[in-house]
Amino acid sequence: MTLTDAAHGLEQHRHWEPAEALRTADPELADLLSAEAERRASGLQLLAGENLATEAVRAALAGPLIDKYAEGYPGHRHHTGCAVADATELLAVSRARTLFAAEHANVQPRSGTSAMLATYAALLRPGDAVLAMSLEHGGHLSCGSKANFSGRWFDFIGYGVREEDGLVDLDQVRELAKAHRPKAIIAGSISYPRHLDWAAFREIADEVDAYLIATAAQTTGLVAAGAAPSPVPYADVVVAATHKLLRGPRGGLLLCTEELAERVDRAVFPFTQGGAAMNEVAAKAVAFAQASTPEFGAYIRRAVDGARALAGSLALSGVRPLTGGTDTHLVTADVGPLGLTGAQAERRCAAAGLLLGKCALPFDPAPAAETSGIRLGTGTAAALGLGAAELGEVGELIGALLSGGEQAAVAARVRELAGGVSQEGAR
Ligand SMILES: *Cc1c(COP(=O)(O)O)cnc(C)c1O
Repeated sequence: MTLTDAAHGLEQHRHWEPAEALRTADPELADLLSAEAERRASGLQLLAGENLATEAVRAALAGPLIDKYAEGYPGHRHHTGCAVADATELLAVSRARTLFAAEHANVQPRSGTSAMLATYAALLRPGDAVLAMSLEHGGHLSCGSKANFSGRWFDFIGYGVREEDGLVDLDQVRELAKAHRPKAIIAGSISYPRHLDWAAFREIADEVDAYLIATAAQTTGLVAAGAAPSPVPYADVVVAATHKLLRGPRGGLLLCTEELAERVDRAVFPFTQGGAAMNEVAAKAVAFAQASTPEFGAYIRRAVDGARALAGSLALSGVRPLTGGTDTHLVTADVGPLGLTGAQAERRCAAAGLLLGKCALPFDPAPAAETSGIRLGTGTAAALGLGAAELGEVGELIGALLSGGEQAAVAARVRELAGGVSQEGAR
């Protein structure tokens, strides 16, 4: 399988048109989608969780399995006519197991958060203590937010990063684990730009006889390409996502040991979900195949090299990247030194077509609605063929904008970059 411009989804990124059937049946909605295509093509997408699904993934999503009900698992369905659905799910599972070297994979979760819910259902009972990165330091809402099932049903204790270097404080993790004896320890974050020491987390979990859950939704594509240490040999359950760096359909993925396979499967169906979306399962199978190609490895290297260049040029512009840089596709940075809040920086960049997200930082002095930080990801930019040179320039453009530079000139250059560069040229 190769990833040409068309396969990368670049053609349809630049010139998306609603299908005739949609334009005829629902012109109002067709216009909305055309407006979204125009918005997407006119700006440079730097939101950390978004990407550009490949053309093959889009085709599988729109294929005939979109209509199929297949509650249960291959060979044990509640519905008839599931031979192709079974073969498709078995293919997705086998590709996921190979790609991630996992004993067992469940490809049915509809999202990362559904996969977290199923993981808790498999391993925990309501009221259990769970140790996870605090939301203020980069934990996802499924790791203890009071507005989410996690914070409502479990007793979350938060660990964080050290103020001096922004790195995970493993001494604090161990102390809190010994003090609270949690049933599970969770490692993983939405904004932490560095690799995690999975072996150290495993050691702490073993010291207090806790499960280790890896929330690797942000880094699933890095792990697939061998560009980040894999949590699979260490964690009891790995929660992954197929729509972030992996460039697949929106969805979750669970990887676990053979020992936990049955509990995890039952926690997904029938405990937390009904019938899986079989078209999404098919599209996940495609994404796993594409993620095992050398082209995908080149794409991931471009994303990581680009993020390093972006962090470097932001630092030269007076924005402070947390931890001093990045090992991943993520850059989390403090805009406080420029006298701005994260929300102001987000608005100023959006006005020039640069889409990034405000982000609460560890020890953030600003109110939660404002924040002092921004979070950027290079997944979409790398899919557009942008590499270290272009993303270094993007960092300069952001720096110029945030230091009061002229918006029109930046916006014109952003529009050029957002058109993408040829993938062949990018390699
Ligand atoms: C993206 C993400 C999730 C949630 O994924 P959804 O598909 O939006 O539910 C959970 N945890 C982490 C660490 C993530 O990065």
